[in-house]
Amino acid sequence: MTNYDDITKDANYVLPGEHNSAVSIAISNVEIDKQLSAVEKTPSIIVEDIKNNTRKRLINKEIWEKNVKKQLRNSGKEYNIGSNEKVIAAKIMKMPCNDKCRLKCAIKISADERTVIHNNYWKLADINRQREFIIRHMCTINPKYRSPVGTNRSLNYSYSFNIHNKEIKVCKTMFMNTLGVSS
Ligand SMILES: [Zn+2]
Repeated sequence: MTNYDDITKDANYVLPGEHNSAVSIAISNVEIDKQLSAVEKTPSIIVEDIKNNTRKRLINKEIWEKNVKKQLRNSGKEYNIGSNEKVIAAKIMKMPCNDKCRLKCAIKISADERTVIHNNYWKLADINRQREFIIRHMCTINPKYRSPVGTNRSLNYSYSFNIHNKEIKVCKTMFMNTLGVSS
C-alpha cells in the first residue's frame, strides 16, 4: 500500500535496482491507478461490512436451517442431521397392543381414533406442548403396599386418551405406539 502511495506521488519513481523505461512506468502506473481506484470504491470499512453481512447471512442461514429441522423433528416429519445428512425417519403410528392386553385397548379405540390422536399430537409441533400432552394423559398409580424404605421401585403410571370427551384408559404400549414415541 505504501509503495503505491509513493509511486503515485512521484510518477518518475523507479523501483530500486530496476531500470524501467518511461513506457513501462506509465503502464505500471495505469495498473496501480486501477488497483487504487478499486480500493477507493471499496474502502476497508465497506470490505469489513461486506464480510460482516456475509457472515450474518451465513449465521442467519444456519439458524434458519436449524429451525426448519427443529420444526420437522417436532412435527414428527423426516429430517436430516449431521454432516453426512443422516436421515431421521418420520414418526409413524405403531401397532396397537395385542389381544393379551388386560385393558383391551384395541377394542376400546379404533384405528381411525388412534390416527386422529397421533396426528393431533404431532401437529402440536412443539416439544414442550408434547411433553405437556403426555404428562396430562399420565397419572401415577398409588401402590397397594408401601415398598420397604431404600428399595428402588419405579413408580407405576396409568395412561389414557380423551376420545369424544371421555377418558379411555390404555396400556403403556398402546399409548406410546399410538403417539409413535418411545419411552
Ligand atoms: Zn393395551
